[in-house]
Amino acid sequence: MREVIVVTGAGGFIGGHLTKSLIADGVDVRAVDIKPLSDWYQRNEQADNIVADLSRRHACDDVLVGAKAVYNLAADMGGMGFIELNKALCMLSVLINTNLLVAARDHGVKRFFFSSSACVYNASKQVSADVTALAESDAYPAMPEDGYGWEKLFSERMCRHFMEDFGIETRVARYHNVYGPWGTYEGGREKAPAAICRKIIEAQFERRTTISVWGDGRQTRSFTYISDCIHGTRLLMESDVREPLNIGSSELVTIDQLVDIVEDVAGVRFRREYQLDAPKGVRGRNSDNSRVRERLNWEPNTSLRHGIERTYRWIYDQFSASRGDTERPSLVRVAG
Ligand code: NAD
Repeated sequence: MREVIVVTGAGGFIGGHLTKSLIADGVDVRAVDIKPLSDWYQRNEQADNIVADLSRRHACDDVLVGAKAVYNLAADMGGMGFIELNKALCMLSVLINTNLLVAARDHGVKRFFFSSSACVYNASKQVSADVTALAESDAYPAMPEDGYGWEKLFSERMCRHFMEDFGIETRVARYHNVYGPWGTYEGGREKAPAAICRKIIEAQFERRTTISVWGDGRQTRSFTYISDCIHGTRLLMESDVREPLNIGSSELVTIDQLVDIVEDVAGVRFRREYQLDAPKGVRGRNSDNSRVRERLNWEPNTSLRHGIERTYRWIYDQFSASRGDTERPSLVRVAG
């Protein structure tokens, strides 16, 4: 029987890029997602593309036949606007990882990757914008993001115990705000970089002078470009690192600085209307990359400016195409 690598959530942002990267290296990929194929962000025709609901045990059994490794990128998730308002849905993703692990054990899968998140970190360590970057040990004592973060932390432990008790080599990445082309940029699940690019593009098309910004603009974050995320994911999966690792940029910016970068790339300036009651998440968060440097001899290195240039251009093209209007609005606005 041929040996395949299964990528779940392959119709989504990170799973689509990962599938493409594995296929480019000649890997036999089985790509799985719950969405109809027509809704997949990227469809790699060389992969075996399957539509299945992986929260169901029998579906996990079906897709793992002959698999030697699994990258689990499937989850019901989104940016802060989604996870603050859909905690039960976020927690239900536990069914995906749990059923996949059980099926992986039963099918003799050797390696299993779980996409965890910086949302597992103890909230009390993220109350100031002037942050101390989060090291892997900061997940405990546990006080993760409500809903989404608890599911991730629980699933991390499930991976650990499947390794200890059943011998599956599990690998866990804690992603920090991944962005780039093919990421969600509208509809309520988008994250800050894509949302800000879209707002600035929309405002130009609609000839407005103001954009809204969630929070007071002074909360801090780091943002990880998709190519770094994919590179780190594959390095980690192939490594002997059994404990969770941060995969995150350490270039810390305020949300206002992120908006500045998007405006510079767009060549525009807008007045900012701060929405203080919008979902904001923690006050400050950055990635401590000491361990990833030590264990993988690597860390994310794409600058935010470079990543935003590519992301902005991609969202701009999607937005123009969806409006049937490929002509860039000519006016450049400067806030008065
Ligand atoms: P995404 O929403 O673009 O992709 C997730 C995919 O999973 C979607 O295509 C969705 O249809 C699929 N899915 C959901 N439920 C499913 C089910 N029951 N069966 C099969 N497929 C199902 O998200 P993404 O940004 O690509 O994130 C991938 C993984 O990385 C997720 O686990 C996410 O929690 C994690 N993560 C992402 C980020 C980020 O910034 N993007 C940060 C931290 C962690």
